[in-house]
Amino acid sequence: MDFCWKREMEGKLAHDYLSSTKRHQHGMMTSPHRVCVVTGPVIVGAGPSGLATAACLKEKNITSVILERSNCIASLWQLKTYDRLHLHLPKQFCELPLIPFPDHFPTYPTKQQFIEYLEDYARRFDIRPEFGQTVESAEFDENLGMWRVVSVGEEGTTEYVCRWLVAATGENAEPVVPRFEGMEKFKATGVVKHTSQYKTGGDFAGKKVLVVGCGNSGMEVCLDLCNFGAQPSLVVRDAVHVLPREMLGTSTFGLSMLLLKWLPIQLVDSFLLVVSRFILGDTTLLGLNRPRIGPLELKNLTGKTPVLDVGTLAKIKTGDIKVCSGIRRLKHYEVEFDNGRMERFDAIILATGYKSNVPSWLKENKMFSKKDGFPMQEFPEGWRGECGLYAVGFTKRGIFGASMDAKRIAQDIYESSRKSGQPHRHIQERMKRKPSESDCGGN
Ligand SMILES: Cc1cc2nc3c(=O)[nH]c(=O)nc-3n(C[C@H](O)[C@H](O)[C@H](O)COP(=O)(O)OP(=O)(O)OC[C@H]3O[C@@H](n4cnc5c(N)ncnc54)[C@H](O)[C@@H]3O)c2cc1C
Repeated sequence: MDFCWKREMEGKLAHDYLSSTKRHQHGMMTSPHRVCVVTGPVIVGAGPSGLATAACLKEKNITSVILERSNCIASLWQLKTYDRLHLHLPKQFCELPLIPFPDHFPTYPTKQQFIEYLEDYARRFDIRPEFGQTVESAEFDENLGMWRVVSVGEEGTTEYVCRWLVAATGENAEPVVPRFEGMEKFKATGVVKHTSQYKTGGDFAGKKVLVVGCGNSGMEVCLDLCNFGAQPSLVVRDAVHVLPREMLGTSTFGLSMLLLKWLPIQLVDSFLLVVSRFILGDTTLLGLNRPRIGPLELKNLTGKTPVLDVGTLAKIKTGDIKVCSGIRRLKHYEVEFDNGRMERFDAIILATGYKSNVPSWLKENKMFSKKDGFPMQEFPEGWRGECGLYAVGFTKRGIFGASMDAKRIAQDIYESSRKSGQPHRHIQERMKRKPSESDCGGN
């Protein structure tokens, strides 16, 4: 079976090479240095979602190739998060399929513990991504009936030809950096950083720092800055739901999930807001207006996550963290706010979130929205597209959603490979069109 399939694919590719050579000559695509035919799926991204998918596939004896642009697994967690970060949600909601967190881990594992867990996970399933491979394009080739995935690494360009393609590049692939008038002037005298570059408040001790954005990251960075002796101010432009991380002796998230099993979402929201008011007080008095729609309904409608307070509100109450209106423009050393007030700052931290990068590399029109890079179908439907295309980790439900996707994708690929009788085992081929010096790995 393997032999026939390989021969057929070689024949098709050899024929196709002639037409693709013409396309190269006309400058329509870059010529790959090497071509790998992958009989299992290609997964783009080695974050928790990519690892979970590879593991679920492995459990079904299907090997995959993971392409990862950075030099490590879970690069968001290893390279782009601050030191004091803990999981925002209790550990039972952040487990990947098949392997639970160790019992001795606390309810909210630290970032380092989470990374340890992921590294152990990758080791146990012998997942070895191809690091330093940035996927620049992926397109379904109608003639071949396969995906052509082009990645760029230190050694040049590689084209992976595969039947199944799993997009696992995440909801947080690229930082969102707003442009403010006068940004260059401020940068000439002060520091401007996105939270993806922020590590610790220790770098800002004694400094006046403006944090832009009041999501979980912005709130936590303010607290971190305070703890290290900086003077943070928080820009709050939009209404925001702040909830205590725990209520009635349990996690707010866990309690919400439990109540949603029996009660309508509006009722659960009302309950959360009453208890929050009791525990935190009236947040509008602190400059944090609540949206008109309740926290869980808002999350469902827009994907906007409520902030789970880990101590920031207490610092706002004591005046250690100031709340400011939106930014109108920046100047040398100074920030002018929407209300006309001016204030001097040493640094600005942009806690302005991230965006998906899928539209920049995936050439297709049916599954992913070009606007926001998310599947157009709502959760729980968005995981499967056409022609063997899948999405993992785009549910706006964190690792919990990614784990659900990963299990479904593995099952679907398993069934489709059984139907077609295609081999499960990963096979890589060096094609004759360009000599290749290295092998394509498989997991
Ligand atoms: C500060 C912070 C705290 C969070 N806390 C929680 C929490 O407590 N619980 C929770 O469930 N979720 C949390 N999240 C959400 C979290 O991002 C995810 O749940 C998790 O990291 C998603 O995993 P992922 O694999 O989908 O995406 P990512 O972790 O972003 O991994 C995607 C990978 O794809 C790679 N990649 C991107 N583009 C390309 C390309 N073109 N070619 C090759 N590789 C590419 C990236 O380098 C990256 O390694 C948090 C997010 C942030 C930012």
